[in-house]
Amino acid sequence: MKVRVRFAPSPTGPLHMGGVRTALYNYLFAKKHGGSFILRIEDTDQTRFVEGAEDYIKEALAWCGMIPDEGPGFGGKFGPYKQSERKEIYKEYADRLINSGYAYYAFDTPEELDAMRERLKKAKVASPQYNTITRDTMRNSLTLSEEEVSRLLQEGHPYVIRFKMPRKEDVRVQDVIRGWVVVNTIQLDDKVLFKSDGMPTYHLANIVDDHKMEITHVIRGEEWLPSAPLHVLLYQAFGWDAPQFAHLPLLLKPDGNGKLSKRDGDRLGFPVFPLEWSDPKTGEKSSGYRENGYFAESFVNMLSMLGWNPGTPQEIFSMDELIEAFSLERVGKAGAKFDPNKTKWFNQQYLRAYKDEELGKMIEPIAKEKEYDVSLEYLTEVSRLMKERASFLPEIVENGQYLFEVPKEYDEKTTRKKWKEDTPQVMEGLRAEFEKISDWNAENCHSVFISYLEKKELGMGRVLPNLRLLITGQGMGPSMFDIMALLGKEECFNRMKKGISELGIAAN
Ligand code: GLU
Repeated sequence: MKVRVRFAPSPTGPLHMGGVRTALYNYLFAKKHGGSFILRIEDTDQTRFVEGAEDYIKEALAWCGMIPDEGPGFGGKFGPYKQSERKEIYKEYADRLINSGYAYYAFDTPEELDAMRERLKKAKVASPQYNTITRDTMRNSLTLSEEEVSRLLQEGHPYVIRFKMPRKEDVRVQDVIRGWVVVNTIQLDDKVLFKSDGMPTYHLANIVDDHKMEITHVIRGEEWLPSAPLHVLLYQAFGWDAPQFAHLPLLLKPDGNGKLSKRDGDRLGFPVFPLEWSDPKTGEKSSGYRENGYFAESFVNMLSMLGWNPGTPQEIFSMDELIEAFSLERVGKAGAKFDPNKTKWFNQQYLRAYKDEELGKMIEPIAKEKEYDVSLEYLTEVSRLMKERASFLPEIVENGQYLFEVPKEYDEKTTRKKWKEDTPQVMEGLRAEFEKISDWNAENCHSVFISYLEKKELGMGRVLPNLRLLITGQGMGPSMFDIMALLGKEECFNRMKKGISELGIAAN
């Protein structure tokens, strides 16, 4: 049997990173087993439809490198892949359930439903529901006469179709991650399967489509576990084999046990969405990993570890390596705590792994924006010097600002600790030695520096921090002689001169 899995988001807004993780596990599972990864847009709830959300979902998947094998705009033999375009299909299946006695018509008005809830609340029922008990008191095809039902239908009275939940039955759901989950139907209500607007609800459409699209494994978030017993009962009612279920653990907030939400991101300063999103109604912007400078590969790698582990200490995985290593059996039950610092760490690892030339090219637009007029070779060297200290591309340019501009300030603490009365003289002497170098490179700068220290009997700690201060304005940074080589002789001289005069009395 060929593995077929689907990612089935509802286009109700931007895709949360938990949703991307669900897509990823589906994708990895499909690719691992030579199967198909299907995108299905579940847009039966017209009231929650958000403009632009479907495009956002597709763009996010593309950014992460997860191109669906089938889906809206991707082709496939099981289409259409958007539920709003499959509308006609569902009614027939709802009717089938009515005819076989697994479902019934309910004509209750919103007012009647409210009244029922009020009545139950007064009777101190904890969660008032339309269920095996209350349905007997309502206006539906179980309580009304056949003639009355036909009349109401003929006259076009609004109705919904509800699932007729068995009264007291254990439903057993087998979950790849959780084992057997057993729920008694006494806890379940008579869910609406088909709405008065002529659209199916999520439950009906989801089951019909998973069956018709020959889905073999339903891999989705834990929040759908409570729906799984109903889904199992629906499969039984239709006489279909149910797919295998795998409910993924929740993503938890970094501080505490609750579910990771957009509010946590706002509060603690990290994105919860893969791409930036601007709300079409309010115009409110939410930040995205892509725009915040994360590499898609590192984002995907980080997400892969939220709930799954390879069983080895390895943490860095390419998509191909993930496909190779992934298994649902190694997905845990417990919620996975999201760690924004670890997320940065992943990005840093990916940044470091790039070749200097690649980084040089990647920072070119950033340097251009700042109007730094330098060559690609120069940016490559900047990348080589700065990459160990950066987690994001812009940091290479920002932390290395002195490689593009003459320092305007000198690190206060280093100046206070290291710049002594005789320093101007020492530095001026050093400058004169550097002047003798005809072949300006890091090695020569280094050896001239060392001989100067020896000749003057000076310690490294008295001279090197001051040299750095003059040339970069900083107290710390990558190899000083590499920096000097990159900046060139004249630039270094000018900076030394300017610094000496600004920091203290220049020696004669
Ligand atoms: N449309 C549901 C969602 O938005 C799909 C849940 C499922 O995979 O069954 O997550």
